[in-house]
Amino acid sequence: MSNDKPNTAAPALAPNFLRNIIEADLAAGAHVRPGLPQVITRFPPEPNGYLHVGHAKSICVNFGLARDYAGQCNLRFDDTNPAKEEQEYVDTIMDSVKWLGFDWEPKHADGQSHLHYASDYFDQLYAMAEYLITAGFAYVDSQSAEDMAANRGNFGQAGKNSPFRDRPRDESLALFRAMKAGQFKDGEHILRAKMSEDAMSSPNMNLRDPAIYRIRHAHHHRTGDAWCIYPMYDYTHPISDALENITHSICTLEFQDHRPFYDWLLETLSAGGFFAKPVPHQYEFSRLNLTYIVTSKRKLRQLVEEKIVDGWDDPRMPTLVGMRRRGYTPEAIQLMCERTGVTKSDGWIDYSVLEGCLREDLDPKAPRSVAVLRPLKLIIDNFPEGESVECTAPVHPHFPECGLRTFPISRELWIEEDDFMEVPNKGYFRLYPPIDDKPGSRVRLRYGYVIECTGYDKDENGKVIAVHCTYFPDSKSGTEGSANYKVKGNMHWVSAPTAIPAEVRLYDRLFTDPQPDAGGKDFKLALNPLAKEVVQAWLEPGAELAQPEERFQFERHGYFAADRVDSQPGKPVFNRIVTLKDSWQPAK
Ligand code: ATP
Ligand code: MG
Repeated sequence: MSNDKPNTAAPALAPNFLRNIIEADLAAGAHVRPGLPQVITRFPPEPNGYLHVGHAKSICVNFGLARDYAGQCNLRFDDTNPAKEEQEYVDTIMDSVKWLGFDWEPKHADGQSHLHYASDYFDQLYAMAEYLITAGFAYVDSQSAEDMAANRGNFGQAGKNSPFRDRPRDESLALFRAMKAGQFKDGEHILRAKMSEDAMSSPNMNLRDPAIYRIRHAHHHRTGDAWCIYPMYDYTHPISDALENITHSICTLEFQDHRPFYDWLLETLSAGGFFAKPVPHQYEFSRLNLTYIVTSKRKLRQLVEEKIVDGWDDPRMPTLVGMRRRGYTPEAIQLMCERTGVTKSDGWIDYSVLEGCLREDLDPKAPRSVAVLRPLKLIIDNFPEGESVECTAPVHPHFPECGLRTFPISRELWIEEDDFMEVPNKGYFRLYPPIDDKPGSRVRLRYGYVIECTGYDKDENGKVIAVHCTYFPDSKSGTEGSANYKVKGNMHWVSAPTAIPAEVRLYDRLFTDPQPDAGGKDFKLALNPLAKEVVQAWLEPGAELAQPEERFQFERHGYFAADRVDSQPGKPVFNRIVTLKDSWQPAK
């Protein structure tokens, strides 16, 4: 295809509150630092699962802002929980970010890689924790987990100070060092921050002496067995941001109540000489909630482990690997993220918005082709046996420069089962046989001839197995004679002797309920039994050459992609990306 298609990946910049903040900061020179861009963001996934469309939103926001303001976006693995993290997840996350169209490789003169791991900072994180202890801002708590939970209080009810809260700093330091040296079991001690004397009665539960280091005798996917204490997310994240000179630390709204700790920690550490001002600032936006999917990692894992879907990359999954396999384009996902904007109010985006973006992106890009998905034999009784006539059709109706495709028409064709009715409904303009003294219907075989239905054959079970017709040799599309025929029906077809057999997987939404897990509902009760249907189809000759991930519009049906795993040259397998029109009906 030619390259001059509209570039939907770079839509015009719509204002939003984050852009306003960044533009104000740029105008004020808030982050002018030698050798550094003025906008540095980061995408901080935990390598404990596959990325989903919600993460795509965060990726598009963070990498997108960096792109739009000539900044930089770091990919940072937030790998502080050794028990759940694996290299496999690191690899797939990197693949998915690249596939979405973003890159953390250096484009600036500094030549530094913008790929980071929180685990690279373990030494610094540890040193800062020792500092906090010696400065009186942290202590080792030796309460049991139960006591700690009980003394934390509740929403609306103040907590109680730990009996270890005022233990001498030296004692805490010695204990912390012993924790690091492996002298205790998991859970025996924990390092907690002390933001203020009365922090345990803070109305914000997150500020009640939050844990900052815990003992975990676990193998880490990068640091191996070097550590048996690991920093907590709320402690690691602000420090990682500051070490990477992040300017705008953008996250989802649930972290709003964590921001006071974020600010306190960086303020305290910069007063201690660890960081220069200005330190990073956190900004929250509302997460992407798409209807008809679930995005909880636990629920997605359940779908995979209980074999409700065929793996993380099942084309029904809202994971990025699943969407990719289905044939979704990164440009459409980017467009959806841009179009749904960035706000601070929670809401739901209907899945049809994403489908609309797919159609919009694919329409100009996808070459046209023909597929008969539920084949029924059509026999043109007056067409000479063994002969064929060449037909032509545009590769793309809006771009003549893409040229023409050719395919033969012959006596026996495949048509769609539902393009024939024994007894037509009112307003049915496709094939139906003569009834009483009325002749059978006339329709145009797209790019071919006008035909008139003359009859049909049934098998012993009463199933229609072939439709008969005659054709009008002077009616061929593109010839003068064609103008003499006015017909209402227009059908696609493929010539039986040259049609390419293919498995086509018709995917639909995974759930029938727009909010399958809202309010604690059992999301598995809302599974859509029609989310995957496999048909043996007949395709236009040439489709057997499709490369994995090559996308087509199958006329009248929708957009389809050659499956990137199962499709092979000569033995194509196609996935339905999206239908041509929004025809989704909620389950009755
Ligand atoms: P976990 O419960 O394991 O932390 P998570 O979905 O938050 O799950 P992370 O790997 O921590 O997974 O997420 C990386 C980033 O993606 C975070 O900054 C998070 O806020 C963001 N993110 C996750 N889900 C969404 C969503 N639906 N919309 C926007 N951003 C999201
Ligand atoms: Mg998270």
